[in-house]
Amino acid sequence: MEENIVQRTLRQIFGFDSFRPNQEEIVKAILSGRDVFAVMPTGGGKSLCYQFPAVILEGVCVVVSPLLSLMKDQVDSASELGIRAATLNSTTTRSGFGQTVGAMENGKLDLLYVSPERFNTPGFLERLAAVKIAFFAIDEAHCISEWGHQFRPDYLALKQIVDVFPNVPIAAFTATATPQVAQDIQKQLRLRNPFSVRASFDRPNLSYQVVYKEDLNSQLVTFLKSVPGQSGIIYRGTRKKVEETADLLSKQGFDVRHYHAGMSDSERDWVHDAFSQDRVQIIVATIAFGMGIDKSNVRFVVHADLPKNLEGYYQETGRAGRDGSPSQCLLLFGYQDIILLKSFIDKYEDPKIRDITWRQLLEMIRFAEADQCRRKALLHYFGEEYSSDNCGNCDFCNNEIHRVDATIDSQKALSAMQRTGNRFGIGHLVDVLVGAKTAKIKQFQHDALPTYGVGSDRSKPYWRFLINALVYRGAAAMKPDCDYPVPQVTPYGWAILRGTEQVEIIQFPSLKKQSKTKVVNEDPCTDATHSDHFLFEQLRQRRKEIARERRVPPYVIFTDKTLLDMANRKPITEEDMQKIAGMSERKMEKYGAPFLELITEYVMATVDEPEFYPDLHEE
Ligand code: ADP
Ligand code: MG
Ligand code: ZN
Repeated sequence: MEENIVQRTLRQIFGFDSFRPNQEEIVKAILSGRDVFAVMPTGGGKSLCYQFPAVILEGVCVVVSPLLSLMKDQVDSASELGIRAATLNSTTTRSGFGQTVGAMENGKLDLLYVSPERFNTPGFLERLAAVKIAFFAIDEAHCISEWGHQFRPDYLALKQIVDVFPNVPIAAFTATATPQVAQDIQKQLRLRNPFSVRASFDRPNLSYQVVYKEDLNSQLVTFLKSVPGQSGIIYRGTRKKVEETADLLSKQGFDVRHYHAGMSDSERDWVHDAFSQDRVQIIVATIAFGMGIDKSNVRFVVHADLPKNLEGYYQETGRAGRDGSPSQCLLLFGYQDIILLKSFIDKYEDPKIRDITWRQLLEMIRFAEADQCRRKALLHYFGEEYSSDNCGNCDFCNNEIHRVDATIDSQKALSAMQRTGNRFGIGHLVDVLVGAKTAKIKQFQHDALPTYGVGSDRSKPYWRFLINALVYRGAAAMKPDCDYPVPQVTPYGWAILRGTEQVEIIQFPSLKKQSKTKVVNEDPCTDATHSDHFLFEQLRQRRKEIARERRVPPYVIFTDKTLLDMANRKPITEEDMQKIAGMSERKMEKYGAPFLELITEYVMATVDEPEFYPDLHEE
């Protein structure tokens, strides 16, 4: 095909000026009738690779895609581009089926999305035999592999394609990075000398950051305040934690919903759609919220609990920034998570699985503890060497991480453990260290210990963190058969106490406090420098609610300029409110109260914002 036709199609139909890496080669391979096997990261632009030839080639391109929601979105966006697309899945009616097949027989369809379940129904392939098929595209092809993390038995039906359509090319796409799964896919689909590409897994627009998890709730609030109005996902380890966090955040005024596998299909679909369509800003979810999030403007992915392995971490963070714009990946790392995950791993009966999952977890921990560039570490895990010494877009490369000697503090903590008889939980040990006056301390006369209060120069979260770190490093071990975790000093701990072993800990920076600058502002004549973006968003939200109630456009209530001035000056009395730009008497009377209330609440909630890791900073 001529070069300029390719470029023109790209421009005119897809609206893009250039191909992303590998797209052009893949498109050309398909156009030339070859099988294709493409491993490209999320956001790499796999859809274009088959949509493009589907437009050009005669006949229909049959796309197998694992999720209904995904198919719907794909058909919608293809139709938006003027590509003739339809779907056949379990929800398709008999007459709908007939119609779609009819359209294909008449050459009136470019793309047909089929669910694996539909594909697997008896006679389906034979039914397709009457249709001119340009090629098959298998999206999320790793679902065919039992080695993969998303195996779907119905995908196995795809093995028959080669038998029924020996002359039709197959193009398989996946974002799975492991070589074993990649091989398995090619074998299962019986690809014939495919044109194979493996794109780099680097996602340069994603920034990686790890901070210690000390006070999760306020850390999340602080983080969310730093990304006002932006779409993102917060991953948590369990359904219960998902619901708790979602609850807490929505009480704090964030636009958040939760998602996990324990919800009904319709609830999950609703949340999925609302997020995709920007009707909901933040999702708190288990990893069940995964495949099928094709939303391109996810600006952040937070892991509030330690993921089990790096593969999962990569895939989950990969949902951020598909559109190529800068996006943040934040991991809140606490040693207590390791202890919890380890207890899950210990429950596996098969020693081999125990061993594998434990090793995977160790890699995850090593990543979190950062002895090198995050990007380099991630890519290395997938067998790719990152060539640059400094990626410029992770906390390690930005010099935000330092190692500090914590031997003396470790001695204090271990001594507290030892002197209280190795029989108290972490909470109590922390109380002893900071010199708290609790009933329990009185009861056991722990205020008489030489260790009592030796750590009063540090915060409780710091000590909690350090004790967990000591457990992880084997300086203390959890006593077996206790109802709650009770650490006791180990021989290695004794070596630290004696001073023959040193302890280093990483000093992560604190999360950046809410920035008080830069409001995205459509009104160029307003000086927004001193406004508070987060408050501004809340004010806008309230305006939206009132506007909806009254069925008027939002600006009729207050202009952005007025809201910006409110966000800027934060009036909490009627008198001050009246001085806000654009606040007429009538408006004050009509709308003043709900905005005053909001600002008051906001001001109250932010005065006592705790500092994070103050101790770690004083070094
Ligand atoms: P994948 O399926 O590989 O995760 P998608 O096909 O969903 O990725 O594409 C991700 C985003 O990149 C989409 O928003 C898509 O429109 C965009 N995109 C794809 N190809 C290009 C291109 N050549 N130029 C600009 N944007 C592109
Ligand atoms: Mg895709
Ligand atoms: Zn880096």
